[in-house]
Amino acid sequence: MQWDDLKATGLQVQYLKVCERKLWLHSHQLGFEDEDDKVQQGKVLHDTSYQRQKSKEVLIENLIRIDMMDKHYVGEVKSSSKMGQADKAQILYYLFVLEQMGIYRKGKIHYPKEKRVDEIELTEEDREAIPKWLAQIQQIIQLDKPPKKKKLRYCTKCAYYSFCWVGEEE
Ligand code: SF4
Repeated sequence: MQWDDLKATGLQVQYLKVCERKLWLHSHQLGFEDEDDKVQQGKVLHDTSYQRQKSKEVLIENLIRIDMMDKHYVGEVKSSSKMGQADKAQILYYLFVLEQMGIYRKGKIHYPKEKRVDEIELTEEDREAIPKWLAQIQQIIQLDKPPKKKKLRYCTKCAYYSFCWVGEEE
C-alpha cells in the first residue's frame, strides 16, 4: 500500500465502525464534539490516568495520534469497553500504519475504570481488511449528504445526538 493512500485518521476509522453518519458529520467538521460531556470525560481521564507514564503521545504525519508507545506496544486509553470493536479497529489501523513505516508493534487498549487491558495483534486478515475500510471511509465522506440516521444504542452518548434526534419521535 502506498503512503499517500493512507488518508484516514484513527478517529475516522473508529467512527466508521460506530456510525457512518457520525463519520460523515465529523469529517465535514460539523463538530459538536468539544461540547460533548463524554468526550470531555475521556480527555480528563486521558490526562489524569497516565500522567506518570514515561512514553509520550506520538503524532505521525498528522494522521494518527497514539497515546503511548514503547519498544513492544502501542497503547490507547478508553473510558469504557462498550465500543470495543471500534476501539479495536482504531488500534489495528495504528498498527497497520506503523507497519507501513517498518515499525512492528502489538497493541494494548487500557480501560482504567474497568481495570482491564486488551491485547491486540495485527493479523493477515486485518491487513486485507484495512485498505477496504479506508476505501469505505473515502466513499462515505465524499457523499453530498450525510448517510441516513439509524437509531443505535450508542446514539444517546453521541455528540451529534441533538443534531440527529431532538424533536424526533422516539
Ligand atoms: S446520534 Fe446516532 S445516528 Fe446520529 S451520528 Fe450519532 S450515532 Fe449516528
